[in-house]
Amino acid sequence: MRMNWGLIGGGEGSQIGATHRIAAGLDGAFQLAAGALDVDATRAREFALRLGIAPDRAYGDWREMLAGEASRPDRVALVTVATPNSSHFEITRAFLAAGFHVLCEKPLTTTLQEAEEIVRTARSHGRICAVNYGYSGYALVRHARAMVAQGELGSIRVVVAEFAHGHHANAADADNPRVRWRYDPKLAGISSIVADCGIHALHLATFITGQQIQSVSADFASTIAGRELEDDALLAFRMSGGTVGRLWTSAIASGRMHGLAIQLFGEKGGLRWAQEQPNQLYWTPVGGRTCIIERGVAGISAAADRASRVTVGHAEGFLGAFGNIYADLAEQLRAGSEQREPNPLALSCPTAEDGASSIAAVQAAVASARARGAWVAL
Ligand code: NAD
Repeated sequence: MRMNWGLIGGGEGSQIGATHRIAAGLDGAFQLAAGALDVDATRAREFALRLGIAPDRAYGDWREMLAGEASRPDRVALVTVATPNSSHFEITRAFLAAGFHVLCEKPLTTTLQEAEEIVRTARSHGRICAVNYGYSGYALVRHARAMVAQGELGSIRVVVAEFAHGHHANAADADNPRVRWRYDPKLAGISSIVADCGIHALHLATFITGQQIQSVSADFASTIAGRELEDDALLAFRMSGGTVGRLWTSAIASGRMHGLAIQLFGEKGGLRWAQEQPNQLYWTPVGGRTCIIERGVAGISAAADRASRVTVGHAEGFLGAFGNIYADLAEQLRAGSEQREPNPLALSCPTAEDGASSIAAVQAAVASARARGAWVAL
């Protein structure tokens, strides 16, 4: 039976709302039963009705949704928070405290203090709080993680991560309201491109290596006049297992579309994966030839097999990756209601603890950049 699912934010025309709606329904585990979809109450209700939500669950505001759902016997089993960053904390904390499980968009909050409060709230109420680092849902990212865990790379010497796009490269966009707020600390917080994009690449580095980031040295640049926050950044970092980390992230890299990529160099070989070609993973054993591991190929790890829906050779991508976050949560929720242990493969879904660690890394990077690249411990 499908579980009732609620969405906050992700209204008509939003960047990420449609992806959540498709991904949550991909395996038939969730149905959109309630929503407070837009900051404008009328638009929120109208859009919810057009999506087939019943009139009494087409809410105009998230507080109204919280009150309405809390009193229903068929209340939503999971709430996704896909509003702009500054509202994540208040909404996520309120739903967790009222006993709902939550999937919150990244970044979990805008400060580490708030993120730690979310972790405490989820624990004290015994609720799941996941964070949508959706790229960790790609089958071959999960295969890379399995290869590392099985020791196929040996110890990892260096990880090099990138997330560079060129969509804010036009200086003439300085007054474009959709771009301007991202570089204004009053609206965006302490960091722009590192908190928005670099954070995904840092999470991938921890997800695949199984290590935590322990210290950071950063160089931030604001390359377009008038931008207070960084639009390009280079980070060096050190990880708990001794791995040396590098990250380049940028919003002014014209020619880069959605340039999220990661390379791992271990004592036994190197791995390379790029989000724009997510169905191939490149593996080069030390002294050997590069081979291409195709998503969906026979003999792939159980983690990658579980994360694939279509056969080898048919492109699978962003929607399926987000779908895997929902598949993990569906399994965790079903296991909870059936009082059994979940499939261990469903436990890799990013948690509030992961969300808090990433924010700690962003805060350390900001402190380092302000101290001209001094190393800052998390
Ligand atoms: P957006 O500005 O395109 O859309 C935001 C939506 O939220 C709009 O429909 C708006 O009306 C609605 N909204 C705003 N405040 C609200 C409130 N208080 N209550 C209800 N609805 C409200 O933003 P976006 O690009 O879709 O980003 C939303 C979130 O998703 C951000 O936190 C962003 O960082 C995150 N995001 C994550 C990924 C990813 O890969 N995981 C990708 C893109 C965006």
